[in-house]
Amino acid sequence: LAAAPPGAAVATTTGGLFRLPRALREAVEGAGGQVRTGTRATALRRAGEPDSGTSGPDGPGWEVAVTGPDGGAILRAPRLVLATPGAPALDLLRGLVDVGDVDLPAGSAITHVTLVVRAPALDAAPRGSGLLVPPGAAAVRAKALTHASAKWPWLAAATTPGEHVLRVSYGRPGERTDDVDPTLALRDAATLLGVPLPPAALRDARVVARAGALAASTPAHLAQVARLGERVRALPGLRVTGAWVAGTGLAAVVAHAQAVAGEMSQ
Ligand SMILES: Cc1cc2nc3c(=O)[nH]c(=O)nc-3n(C[C@H](O)[C@H](O)[C@H](O)COP(=O)(O)OP(=O)(O)OC[C@H]3O[C@@H](n4cnc5c(N)ncnc54)[C@H](O)[C@@H]3O)c2cc1C
Repeated sequence: LAAAPPGAAVATTTGGLFRLPRALREAVEGAGGQVRTGTRATALRRAGEPDSGTSGPDGPGWEVAVTGPDGGAILRAPRLVLATPGAPALDLLRGLVDVGDVDLPAGSAITHVTLVVRAPALDAAPRGSGLLVPPGAAAVRAKALTHASAKWPWLAAATTPGEHVLRVSYGRPGERTDDVDPTLALRDAATLLGVPLPPAALRDARVVARAGALAASTPAHLAQVARLGERVRALPGLRVTGAWVAGTGLAAVVAHAQAVAGEMSQ
């Protein structure tokens, strides 16, 4: 883990958080497990027969229909943790438990624009590691800006002198973000940072859009999913986890997943 500068209650993996799932895959495969990416679970049911090869301490086990690059398959396991987002989890659970009262709001669309700029005026990090923009601000459309190379020393070490990495975020509740592009982000970044960022300053850019990205975390929603979790708990060898159950953010999600894994291995 790499800590941000002193005072910040944040941390990430050196080199970027994308390294975490890669490390997880290596650990799973190293322990003899299998990881299938690009593969969607489409149906879930109790395994039919006690001797179908899925029997475990909790009973006959589970069968998951999946579809992926290698076509369709049925995966069988004595115990199963469902860790998809809420909507597919509810689809998979329908027919096994009453999911009726769980209301899943669509979530906000979020678009991040990462900009690599050459702008020595940013060496002094005029806004520290970043800022949040209050709703209704007229001068910019962005809702937040992270001066990523000021926030993460490992990223600063990967830049050349005078080069900076910025991440500009878009997507307030109900707002469409499909028209967001690097030109808009560069303009907003210049306004927010108070330094000129002409088009010639732009070295590289990447736009990443996520639809319905953040799970609902209202108390009412969490109470609904807690009740659903109890109903799922009555099914031997099956548990649900993920942000839609645990609340948004890695701290909540990881703690919940660890608790579920602990229960399952008892
Ligand atoms: C832009 C953005 C920035 C964020 N920044 C932070 C941050 O700085 N710090 C922080 O703590 N949190 C952050 N979060 C929140 C954090 O990413 C989430 O709370 C967390 O990743 C949720 O984990 P999860 O396992 O529940 O869901 P996900 O990480 O979404 O994993 C669910 C997985 O299920 C897969 N899936 C979906 N449907 C199916 C199906 N039918 N069959 C099989 N697989 C399926 C998906 O492909 C996905 O891989 C951020 C979120 C977003 C969107």
